[in-house]
Amino acid sequence: MNCELISVGTEILLGDIVNTNAHFLSRQLAELGINVLFQCTVGDNKGRLLTALDTAFGRSDLIILTGGLGPTPDDMTKEVCAEFMGKELVLHGPSLKKIEDFFALKKIAMPESNKKQALMPEASIILENANGTAPGCIMEKDEKAVIILPGPPKEMIPMFLDGVRPYLKKLSHETIFSHNIRTFGIGESAMTELVSDLLESENPTVAPYAKNGEALLRVTAKAGSKKEAEALLTPLIGEIKKRLGSYIYGIDLESVEEAAVALLKEKKLTVAFAESCTGGLCAKRVTDISGASSVFHCGVVSYSNEIKHKLLGVSEESLEKHGAVSALVAAEMALGVKKLSGADFGVSVTGMAGPESDDPRIPVGTIFIAVTDGDRLYLKKLATGHSGKDCRDYNKFVSASNALNELRLCALSYPEKRSEGTDIREFTGSFKEL
Ligand code: ATP
Repeated sequence: MNCELISVGTEILLGDIVNTNAHFLSRQLAELGINVLFQCTVGDNKGRLLTALDTAFGRSDLIILTGGLGPTPDDMTKEVCAEFMGKELVLHGPSLKKIEDFFALKKIAMPESNKKQALMPEASIILENANGTAPGCIMEKDEKAVIILPGPPKEMIPMFLDGVRPYLKKLSHETIFSHNIRTFGIGESAMTELVSDLLESENPTVAPYAKNGEALLRVTAKAGSKKEAEALLTPLIGEIKKRLGSYIYGIDLESVEEAAVALLKEKKLTVAFAESCTGGLCAKRVTDISGASSVFHCGVVSYSNEIKHKLLGVSEESLEKHGAVSALVAAEMALGVKKLSGADFGVSVTGMAGPESDDPRIPVGTIFIAVTDGDRLYLKKLATGHSGKDCRDYNKFVSASNALNELRLCALSYPEKRSEGTDIREFTGSFKEL
């Protein structure tokens, strides 16, 4: 079943309000297995609304309009739709009674214009408005339906959920079911290249997205039931897993920390963080996950050089010679927090979050991350590419995400060692070139 949305209101065209109704309806319709092929916005103008209806009716089975059901003369959606569908407007007794009761309850006289809201297209299905005075309705003709709903979301959403959704569920014999395959450490374009042939598939479909510095693939199947949809998705997900390997941190997970905590739990491993530029964000994100206490030992926010030295044992010489934002200091921080806590992994982050850099040699967005299991050190240098006024939050978030992902990769291969690591006995000289 193909659907088209028409949002009515000059305010939307002028940019005075954001069209959240279309957003809500599109998501709901996708869930019901109904294809939304077109969306348009029309001002409060009869001629243009008739044209939009005519176009939509010619190409879609279902048209949903929102807005323009109020009592004022510029609210004309119902009148125009009734005319288009060749239906008379007739007084709907229960709606009139509801409107009268609404005003009686507020102890104010009902304006004559509100009666107009109880005039409904003949032979239509009336949709009660539990949160306002304007009822909506469903008009059917030639096996197609035109549905009109009020503009205010607090009226439109319950009317859709209580009245329209059950109606559409009966008409639609399909369900749409999706999974989100979350990745880390690969950009959207590189990820897309690896699965480019799969993007052509029509059912199930594969769609790439980028979100919070991560790339993800949404796989969606349309079928008669959830079980049938899953049967279509399982082999596709298997193929994507083969191609993207350990870039995938989870399916339908919310975050990389969720994946890291789950792996640490599964392997009965623990972690401690030494954080400088992230100011405790790694620890916060891990402790946001329920059950983190079984894997999280401690977090040290070692912002000053003094604390890096005193608490974590970072050498004064390293700080002096290489600066706090350096591979060597990151390595010593990770080793220090592992020693201090006795956790299986020590993870550190030190970097220049910006917007200003306090060392002219180090550009904003330069971040060093280290993870150690006591035998080996895994170091990563990031250049986030974000500087300028609003970069700080982004740089902190992305640094924490990368640190959590490095932890995840170490936990994933544990007890095997990752090939990227270096024996800690060799670490001093070997990171200077990072
Ligand atoms: P009313 O009886 O309040 O006049 P109505 O059905 O005539 O309702 P409109 O007059 O078109 O609806 O819009 C009323 C208000 O509803 C708008 O000012 C806006 O706040 C909200 N609204 C309308 N359309 C949308 C939309 N597409 N997305 C989000 N909000 C909307």
